[in-house]
Amino acid sequence: MDFGWDGEQAGFRAEVRAFIDEHWTRGARRERELEPWERARAYQKRLAEHGWLTRAWPKAYGGADASYFEQLIFAEESAYSSAPTGGQGADRVGPTLIIHGNEAQKQEHLPRIASAEVEWCQGYSEPGAGSDLASLQTRAVRDGDDFVINGQKIWTSGAQHADWIHVLTRTDPDAPKHRGISYFMVPMDTPGITLRPIVQLHDQSGFNETFFEDVRVPAKHMIGEENRGWYVSTTTLDFERSGIHRIAAAVPPFRRLFEFARQPDSAGDGRRVVENPVHRLALADTATEIEVGKLLGYRVTWMQARSLVPNMESSMSKMFGSETQQRLARRGVNMLGLAGTLRGGEPRAPLGGEFGTYYMSSVSLTIAAGTSEIQRNIIATRGLGLPRG
Ligand SMILES: Cc1cc2nc3c(=O)[nH]c(=O)nc-3n(C[C@H](O)[C@H](O)[C@H](O)COP(=O)(O)OP(=O)(O)OC[C@H]3O[C@@H](n4cnc5c(N)ncnc54)[C@H](O)[C@@H]3O)c2cc1C
Repeated sequence: MDFGWDGEQAGFRAEVRAFIDEHWTRGARRERELEPWERARAYQKRLAEHGWLTRAWPKAYGGADASYFEQLIFAEESAYSSAPTGGQGADRVGPTLIIHGNEAQKQEHLPRIASAEVEWCQGYSEPGAGSDLASLQTRAVRDGDDFVINGQKIWTSGAQHADWIHVLTRTDPDAPKHRGISYFMVPMDTPGITLRPIVQLHDQSGFNETFFEDVRVPAKHMIGEENRGWYVSTTTLDFERSGIHRIAAAVPPFRRLFEFARQPDSAGDGRRVVENPVHRLALADTATEIEVGKLLGYRVTWMQARSLVPNMESSMSKMFGSETQQRLARRGVNMLGLAGTLRGGEPRAPLGGEFGTYYMSSVSLTIAAGTSEIQRNIIATRGLGLPRG
């Protein structure tokens, strides 16, 4: 079997690489004064101007009808350079609206997402509803042409910079839990929404608690039917879980670790890290895992291209990608010795402290977008037909 790319795909990959190099790798260097999120948004605008932010969308909604494999190549190359792609709007909300939104919603939101005018955040999780998301308690009650939302969300990534939130609410508390949920789009500047940042282990605060107090939202902002929002949200989750970016994101730190480990005296005792057989094997394991993970990701895309619905396959790819990153982070810290636990800004930290931070930030990878246990449950029940535990 030939796993190669055809000439057109190889050409597209070269084009993507050149664009990223010019507009992200070198472009970002020119924009050092910007905050990381501002740099990402400036780059997304350049992607949008180039027609690449939503290239896989239908032409009618600001896309180019690009193939699934072109989309994969774009995501893969972006991750190899740690470059942003579409954000929540282009990667989750837009694709969900294309499937479940009405025409007015598509006309209102898709062009603004395609041109990188708006950023979105996701209001799903609550203090008492994470893995068991359908137990969410945030209430939306109809009042004329509006709904009034009260409740609390948690772990809302990027809410501090977002213009809109897509949020799951309970509209029928008496129905079975999956059947009483409705899905809304809400502008973040609506009165009654407040945020409290959550500071993480590695001192960054990427996510928030989001409070809704009598937040009034027009009924026209509901995606799909009232009380059927759960089935819309599973589409969004499918988009969130699938993708090559998780495994591809392991490639840049792996390359840097590999290069470091080959340097003279990288072990600090006159020897190179790669002379240690344990570390040599760990590098070989990671290289193998990255190749396996890429094939799991390609399989998801191959299925999508054939209009098959990847389910167990998305969970395998998500779980393996995030666990590979954790193993890499752990191996890196072990190879770099005690100084490897130091973080950025510390002059004695090898590789600029990258692995100290990576080790801590990678903890969350097997929690976000559904924990590894939940992915294994999906593989066991929906994939292998095993009984529920
Ligand atoms: C980096 C990051 C970003 C996030 N961003 C967002 C965001 O933008 N918006 C948003 O809404 N949410 C976000 N989340 C929240 C995320 O979706 C939840 O953390 C996740 O779904 C797990 O829920 P929980 O934290 O409540 O853990 P729990 O569901 O309480 O799980 C606790 C533990 O129990 C295990 N467990 C639970 N149920 C089962 C079961 N049935 N079988 C086996 N084991 C089980 C879990 O695997 C886990 O180990 C983010 C999380 C992270 C880490």
